[in-house]
Amino acid sequence: MPHRNAAVLDRSEPWIQNAIERVLLSEDQIRARIAELGQQISKDYAGQHVILVSILKGSVIFLADLVRSLNIPVGVDFMAVSSYVGSETSGIVRVTMDLRESAEGKHVILVEDIVDTGLTLAYLKNLLKARHVKSLKICALLDKKESHRVEVPVDYLGFKIPSEFVVGYGLDYSEQFRNLPFVGVLKREYYSKPDKKQK
Ligand code: 5GP
Repeated sequence: MPHRNAAVLDRSEPWIQNAIERVLLSEDQIRARIAELGQQISKDYAGQHVILVSILKGSVIFLADLVRSLNIPVGVDFMAVSSYVGSETSGIVRVTMDLRESAEGKHVILVEDIVDTGLTLAYLKNLLKARHVKSLKICALLDKKESHRVEVPVDYLGFKIPSEFVVGYGLDYSEQFRNLPFVGVLKREYYSKPDKKQK
């Protein structure tokens, strides 16, 4: 039987049209950049086993594509942290779900959807270093460089983006828009109602 693709997203749907101001990164741009990142990581870790630690929930779609672009032995694990209220950072990072397996003595790459203030990654970097990983690098799809409050060097970066609130390709606003295949800027009127959000 011929393989049937998943239904194609209809971008003229009101739930998209009413919420998305503009597409920032298209599916094709994202795909091409991830292929490049995959090549670079595979080259850097040739002959090694690496664990990709995905920060839930925003990075799962990025992780799924990134892991399939790698040409090296690789494992995946997950952590969840909470730090955001609505579209504003609270600046407080809390681990809500920890790794399943010990990271001690392993080559770890933290996989994050987006760096904003940098507080989440700075916190997680310190946490994992204290667990005596063999090496630790950061891979992020998006970086809002102008919003950094602390300096976190991203070793593998997809795209530098302006300081606007974006959704899609795994990133949500109040558990909406993760399923958009592109990254889009959310209209400002969506920011008005603050609510508790898990990343
Ligand atoms: P940081 O600690 O760097 O300020 O925050 C990083 C986290 O904030 C990301 O993992 C993401 O969950 C959330 N975040 C920051 N900026 C955005 C954004 O523009 N859109 C969405 N959906 N989440 C964001």
